[in-house]
Amino acid sequence: MGKLQQLVNSIQVLQEQSKALEPNSGQRHYFTQAVNEYADEFLTHIHDKAAYIDGDGKELYQLPIQEMGRDIHNVLAILNQAVDTPGLNPASGGYLGYIPGGGIYHAALGDYLADVSNRISALYYLNPGAVRMENLLIRWMADLIGYPGTAGGNLASGGSISNLIAIVTARDAHRLKCKNFNKTVVYLSEQVHHCVDKSLRIAGLGEVIKRYVPLDNDYRMIPHQLARMIAADKAAGLQPWLLIASAGTTNTGAIDPLVALNQIAKLHQLWFHVDAAYGGFFILTPQGKQLLQGIETADSVVLDPHKGLFLPNGLGVVLIKDKQHLLRAHSFDASYLEDAQDDSDQLSPAELSPELSKHFRGLRLWLPLQLLGVAPFRAALNEKLLLAQYFYQQLLTIPGMELACEPQLSVVTFRYVPLQGDPNNANQNLLASIRRNGRVFLSSTNLNGRIYLRLACLSFRTHLDLIDYTLSMIKHYIGEYYEFAA
Ligand SMILES: *Cc1c(COP(=O)(O)O)cnc(C)c1O
Repeated sequence: MGKLQQLVNSIQVLQEQSKALEPNSGQRHYFTQAVNEYADEFLTHIHDKAAYIDGDGKELYQLPIQEMGRDIHNVLAILNQAVDTPGLNPASGGYLGYIPGGGIYHAALGDYLADVSNRISALYYLNPGAVRMENLLIRWMADLIGYPGTAGGNLASGGSISNLIAIVTARDAHRLKCKNFNKTVVYLSEQVHHCVDKSLRIAGLGEVIKRYVPLDNDYRMIPHQLARMIAADKAAGLQPWLLIASAGTTNTGAIDPLVALNQIAKLHQLWFHVDAAYGGFFILTPQGKQLLQGIETADSVVLDPHKGLFLPNGLGVVLIKDKQHLLRAHSFDASYLEDAQDDSDQLSPAELSPELSKHFRGLRLWLPLQLLGVAPFRAALNEKLLLAQYFYQQLLTIPGMELACEPQLSVVTFRYVPLQGDPNNANQNLLASIRRNGRVFLSSTNLNGRIYLRLACLSFRTHLDLIDYTLSMIKHYIGEYYEFAA
């Protein structure tokens, strides 16, 4: 056999062995059917499932990665036991802790299609339609918050990365220089999401001076205190640079006074950033629109469709009022992408974010919006606001219940103060009992040394029955510990 023939034979053997990577129609049907049955089973029972179950996922060790593949039914059985059972079930309507996400089915179908076709949504010239779709969605969200035509943005993997992109953009827009970092000042609130602090460090800005603006009784920044701090910093020769406000804090859902804060930011030429990862999409409701007034004045805004639009995890959005700043901070030159130049008005995600190859995230948002329209999203968001009000009103009728503040959005922060004993212990016990029961999942927080429980209502599967159930459980456990009945 000649050398070339040997080569051809080897290639043919390998081609045969790797054939499994391309299942034929019958095999595809077999896999899809198994996966569909699994998903159906999961969704059919989702309304009765616990929001939290103890476990450690160690069943996964039963399936070490090996040379040969396994039957899908065995694999899905382990997936169910190890991954889709223990821990938090974020798909459950009983998930009322932290900030719940969603997982609407239509988005999963969008992901499926994006994965099958694997279109490259990073560069316009490679896939004009995919990039145009993402730009169209960014424009839709820019319109929602009242941004002008100059705005641009990026679909990122979540709110944390979106905040990072905004901070890097603000850094470059103000041409901050390393040697001045320790004279540069950021103004924020103690209630800001921890990812902001992380982003500052990742952006190389760990040395900047952080000023925590005092808060009012509803955990919102006090504008005249901000003005006072900026004046003092300027007098001391420092460089005020960035103001970070929240439109819906994680702890209490507080919305900082955006209009007043913006006026101060503009007066002193600060970049004004609003983290609306949790609260932003409430702008679809009349009440939210009222509460979020002034968001359009920000230089940058972060929204999380995987929270406020009930999508599965993996989609956050950063919007920049003047997209040139976003472009300047993220554009690139690459010899192997020289043919990527085009004169389209469509900017490409690769020029506007740290990513190149990325998941085609647009489809998981575009498909649900096309199939459902905006109306059901608006209704669900409105329902969440009312459920939080209902829960709050009901809590007020329970003796010993103390509310951190009136809910502005859909987070209710409360604690039980027993007649005797340490309130922090009481609330830790209450939370532990609720977790042990598992049907609903609440989280806790610490406000000025006091432990509070939080109910965050943002799952599209949370309805009145579960809120009533939560109330009855709270009353039950309080009664158990403190021989108290409401
Ligand atoms: C959830 C949240 C974040 C972080 O977003 P991820 O999508 O979890 O990365 C940032 N800020 C606020 C206000 C949030 O609620």
